[in-house]
Amino acid sequence: MTIFEEVKELVSVPAVARYYGIDVRRGNMCLCPFHNERTPSMKLYEKNYYCFGCKAHGDVINLVQEIFRMSAIRAVKRINNDFSLGLDIDKPPEREDIERINRQRQELEEYQQWEKHSYKVLNDYLWLMRDYAEKYALHNPDDIPDKRFIYSQNHISYAEYLANEFLLADKETKLSMKGEIEQIEQEMLRIK
Ligand SMILES: [Zn+2]
Repeated sequence: MTIFEEVKELVSVPAVARYYGIDVRRGNMCLCPFHNERTPSMKLYEKNYYCFGCKAHGDVINLVQEIFRMSAIRAVKRINNDFSLGLDIDKPPEREDIERINRQRQELEEYQQWEKHSYKVLNDYLWLMRDYAEKYALHNPDDIPDKRFIYSQNHISYAEYLANEFLLADKETKLSMKGEIEQIEQEMLRIK
């Protein structure tokens, strides 16, 4: 979570408005500090404000920015101090966080490549089985079956099952098929 998100999470718009002197009335309505008016037309919600008169709107940080005419980061610092939030504003993102994010990104890329490759292996295997079944099909009862035909008959259901299973499986299940897929890759090199 960024420092901005943390501030927005920790303080409400009505509480901050009240603290900085805005007279919050019934229904969380108040006189708009951004235009002159006699009857309240600004509505304060928990996380936002909206003026029905001048259309001013924003979140709690915008509100403080507008009241004091300051930058967002200074508004965050001011809220942090005034509300004793104890946030460490000047802290740069931690190295561990950066490393963790980079590592996760790299792992994801590696997984996606593996997934793509595995899907291709299983599909190639399935098509090889279909190919063998068709190309070496028996035409006469007396034909001596080619060993590739026999192989296809023994493995085509398995190949279909694996290809479908992999397509529909979640990440964990796919990874659990890793050994089987590697074996099939070896097997294809052997039989081709
Ligand atoms: Zn207004």
